[in-house]
Amino acid sequence: MATFIVLLGPPGVGKGTQAKILSDRKGLAHISSGDLFRENIKNQTELGRLAQTFMSKGELVPDDVTIAMIKDRLSHPDCRNGAILDGFPRTPAQADALEDMLKEFSGRVDAVPQITAPMDALIERMSGRWTCRANGHSFNTKFNPPKLEGVCDYDGSELFQRDDDKVETVKRRIQVYFDQTSPLISYYREHDKLVEIDGLQSIEQVTKAILSALNV
Ligand code: ADP
Ligand code: ADP
Repeated sequence: MATFIVLLGPPGVGKGTQAKILSDRKGLAHISSGDLFRENIKNQTELGRLAQTFMSKGELVPDDVTIAMIKDRLSHPDCRNGAILDGFPRTPAQADALEDMLKEFSGRVDAVPQITAPMDALIERMSGRWTCRANGHSFNTKFNPPKLEGVCDYDGSELFQRDDDKVETVKRRIQVYFDQTSPLISYYREHDKLVEIDGLQSIEQVTKAILSALNV
């Protein structure tokens, strides 16, 4: 049976970093809703134009378009063995929709590592974040610098600073997480899927903690 893992946690906590490592180690697809939106913005699609109006303010993109985008992504053949979901679901309506989608693919959410870190650490991480243009790899000037400044270690593409990583937008995004996404913590806890992970540890230690908590 396919394996689906949802990485839950506030912006900047390390979901994308861990999702890339876990998808390599486990041979599962990496689905990042933020990367999919940024791809659409780059390609100037209609979805990209709509998403940008919300993303630039740090608000969530509406559920209906977000759900449709993820449903399409899950139908790709690389998701047949399962996926690491990074940034989706972010609302209870998205979590319900995910359950329905996975039923169609005869899967279910297997585990939900919830990565935590205090607000000052999130702000510090996002202010030093550099993101790779081609595949969304995350680097950090202070905590995880690339070997060569401005260049992705993995695919050689250019690194850029996200517009929504400026401090006012970051604060709004963290607030949006607490208002709209944090209800998912109790949702997945009630479904016995949640495992708490201390995101203040090093990247390697966080990976280790997630892998030892996963029963997959
Ligand atoms: P998210 O996807 O949750 O927004 P990222 O994976 O992009 O978070 O990480 C945010 C920033 O913090 C990046 O610059 C990344 O390099 C850095 N980072 C990720 N994990 C850690 C960690 N455990 N310790 C220090 N910095 C980290
Ligand atoms: P981070 O990695 O810092 O948590 P993301 O790249 O996941 O940020 O998301 C960036 C922005 O994309 C969000 O602030 C939001 O505007 C939009 N977005 C991403 N995922 C979703 C989602 N599941 N639902 C609604 N909006 C989303």
